[in-house]
Amino acid sequence: MDHSLYFTEHHHQVREMVREFSRDQIAPVARELDRTSEFPWQNIKAMGELGLLGVPWSEALGGAGMDQLSYYITIHEMAKVDASHALTISAHTNLGTSPIVEFGTEVQQRQYVPLLASGKVLGGFGLTETGAGSDAGGTATTAADRGDHYLLNGSKVFITHAGVGEIFSVTARTEPGQGNKGITSFIVTKDTVDLEQCRGLGVGHAEDLPKTKGVRAGKKEDKMGWRASDTRELVFEDAVVPKENVLGKPGYGFINFLKTLDGGRIGIAALSLGIAEGAYEEALRYAGVRKQFGRFIGSFQAVSFQLADMAMEIEAGTHLLYHAAWLKQNGKPFKKEAAMAKLYCSELAMRTTTKAVQIFGGYGYTTEYPVERMMRDAKVCEIGEGTSEIQRIVIARQILGEVAD
Ligand SMILES: Cc1cc2nc3c(=O)[nH]c(=O)nc-3n(C[C@H](O)[C@H](O)[C@H](O)COP(=O)(O)OP(=O)(O)OC[C@H]3O[C@@H](n4cnc5c(N)ncnc54)[C@H](O)[C@@H]3O)c2cc1C
Repeated sequence: MDHSLYFTEHHHQVREMVREFSRDQIAPVARELDRTSEFPWQNIKAMGELGLLGVPWSEALGGAGMDQLSYYITIHEMAKVDASHALTISAHTNLGTSPIVEFGTEVQQRQYVPLLASGKVLGGFGLTETGAGSDAGGTATTAADRGDHYLLNGSKVFITHAGVGEIFSVTARTEPGQGNKGITSFIVTKDTVDLEQCRGLGVGHAEDLPKTKGVRAGKKEDKMGWRASDTRELVFEDAVVPKENVLGKPGYGFINFLKTLDGGRIGIAALSLGIAEGAYEEALRYAGVRKQFGRFIGSFQAVSFQLADMAMEIEAGTHLLYHAAWLKQNGKPFKKEAAMAKLYCSELAMRTTTKAVQIFGGYGYTTEYPVERMMRDAKVCEIGEGTSEIQRIVIARQILGEVAD
């Protein structure tokens, strides 16, 4: 589609740069990394050098000094080739770094953001617990006030980068019986689990970053998709967190993390749309080369109509995505639009990848073509950062609130 409604010349250049990097560096290894579930440290280093791990942060904080739109374009473009790499950018930038940029003190920003924005170390966000998934207010991890520090006990599950990352924003209950208002967020640190490899490559580990005693990574998840992304438990065992690591005001952890998730949802929309477009482009190409009954399969109406629906829905998703991104970039309310973009694009990714596998026939069901990986990668987009059901709740509350107003 013609993106000129949303993109400047600079945005086109960003898109071209990410496209080239994804084609040259990610496409050749994506299938093998998916098979082995290995974390792509070599590519992480290259992404850091290109500024892709700190796209929207100021140069003063070690970032690339670009805008929000460039950040979403980066995720969108990379996900056309591989969702795991794109998720690393999204989880690291929005979930891992933005809470410190938005809610951190100047001292916290100076201490942590340059390490994250430059890609020197990876960050993450610990909200989900075994008893607190969609209901994030069910946080049971405790933070007991011990004078000059808090003592954290509990564990977070499904945390992206819990193993490979070193800096995390996490929530814990500081006031029992106070509901959502009793939750505070903290910055905690730990060593990466790939210490030797990271020291060798010069990425992923900061020797001089003080580490929080009592924080460690737990079991790694063996996932259906996003297999080259690291997902583990993050465990706190009498973790000693100094008071200066409280992130934002005490009691504001829940409300601040919900704000972080609003921006994250645009990121997952970008990632989902990228998967959908990647699968569509593969299917379109295949329909023009595969012959049955003496004809290209794309000439059968049943196949061409599927391609037509895919193309139409991708255009609709593109408008939802970049409209939400534009609102955020311009400081306008975007909660409803972010939820709509995330919901539509994630369900679109599932529909489109399923159709793409169908167009590839039996070959689509094998690892010879990337569409089966794309289909597996698409599913979690309907779950992470708020399930589809939760997005519908958010949208319903917003539109009913608008009526009441
Ligand atoms: C690969 C991966 C990476 C992740 N990364 C992170 C991360 O970095 N940080 C982090 O904090 N979390 C992360 N998560 C967790 C993710 O955000 C949660 O899995 C998600 O919010 C859903 O929570 P749950 O899995 O406990 O499901 P549940 O909340 O138990 O939901 C189960 C089902 O019930 C439905 N449901 C629940 N409540 C309602 C309701 N009120 N109305 C209607 N339906 C409802 C849900 O929609 C879903 O279909 C990740 C998850 C995955 C799979």
